[in-house]
Amino acid sequence: MAIKITDDCINCEACEPECPNNAIYSPEQAWKFSDGTTMNDNTEREDGGFSDEFFYIATDKCTECIGFHDEPQCAAVCPVDCCIDDTDNVETEDELMLKKEKLHA
Ligand code: SF4
Ligand code: SF4
Repeated sequence: MAIKITDDCINCEACEPECPNNAIYSPEQAWKFSDGTTMNDNTEREDGGFSDEFFYIATDKCTECIGFHDEPQCAAVCPVDCCIDDTDNVETEDELMLKKEKLHA
């Protein structure tokens, strides 16, 4: 299951550098698969989690930190606890590992 950022976010930026997949973006910034990964897809996207008000997590790049850390790093550092499970995007551990391998081939 991906993690999502709620509208309680105070845009403090603490989470952004902690993500091993570069899945966290500042408001209004388009996301790309190629940012911080080995993927060649440079398409600028504004789907899958995009927000023009708060920091956001690109759903297709979030792996719950699997393969890198024992717990979601964004949730661990967030001062207002607004990084929560995205229940609309439930994935198994195997699916998350495949996602990680796709991002870091
Ligand atoms: S859970 Fe991990 S992979 Fe997902 S956005 Fe947070 S830091 Fe990035
Ligand atoms: S750490 Fe929390 S409050 Fe700060 S930008 Fe990230 S989600 Fe928002």
